[in-house]
Amino acid sequence: NTPVDKHFVTAEDLRGRLPKRPKFSHKGTFGHALLLAGSKGKMGAAVLATQACLRAGVGLITTRVPAVGYDILQISAPEAMCLADSASDHISELPELTPYAAIGIGPGLGQHDDTREVLHQLLTTATVPLVIDADALNLLGAHPELQKLLPPDSLLTPHPKEFERLVGEPARDDYHRLEQLRAFVGRTSCYCIIKGAYTVLAAPDGTLYFNSTGNPGMATGGSGDVLTGLLLALRAHKNLSPLDAALLGLHAHGRAGDLALPHTGHTGLLASDIVRFIGPALEELM
Ligand code: AMP
Ligand code: MG
Repeated sequence: NTPVDKHFVTAEDLRGRLPKRPKFSHKGTFGHALLLAGSKGKMGAAVLATQACLRAGVGLITTRVPAVGYDILQISAPEAMCLADSASDHISELPELTPYAAIGIGPGLGQHDDTREVLHQLLTTATVPLVIDADALNLLGAHPELQKLLPPDSLLTPHPKEFERLVGEPARDDYHRLEQLRAFVGRTSCYCIIKGAYTVLAAPDGTLYFNSTGNPGMATGGSGDVLTGLLLALRAHKNLSPLDAALLGLHAHGRAGDLALPHTGHTGLLASDIVRFIGPALEELM
């Protein structure tokens, strides 16, 4: 029974790991991300994740949405490109993947059978980093055979309930949940977090990293979708390791929520306020 390697991650640990934007950079330098998100009635999740990815400095983002979401996304995130699916209310086809440096899937996705097939195809064909959240995790929980297809170094971002569905067994307590988490990353060679007041990241080797930023105002709809977009931008960045991208993203997400507090208070904080402070939160770490 070797002791668990664990760290409480502060700004000091991360400072300098996020490269400053070089003078001669262009949008190609920061990668082109693909996000698959949204379904009828849940387009806000796709919008928030897209906006967060842009605020986190991605070079370009293309968001795949159901046809019903096309105008919504183009109007709410004019900086993004939008690829509408042929199905009206859910995503039913995987787009061509060659242009992209990283791919995110999950926010507001729904769990249609066609969408499960899209996830299956993505897991078997993608050759770039994946960020997997929300209903994409619920699909992995409902269809455990898909978990064997997870490419190594994928980043999974469940909250405790999604994590329980993923591993198919409720945790007896917080310590048991951490053991389940370490077993999961060992089995899949993925990075996985469990979100909450002290979000914890497990690396494939079982090392645990506890995030130190954030506040209870962030316990509000859409916060997690913002995190997914932010992490997607950092995974598309070609000079960041999977571990650094995850640690920087978790820290900046909580810090952006903390920077929003003087403007909103805990009570009035919205996910879109977190989006607004992603830039300042990331620049503090440069
Ligand atoms: P989701 O449940 O997918 O919307 O994700 C919620 C997000 O908000 C996660 O990134 C959590 O870490 C964050 N969050 C929720 N509650 C708290 C809290 N009490 N303190 C800090 N962060 C929180
Ligand atoms: Mg969520």
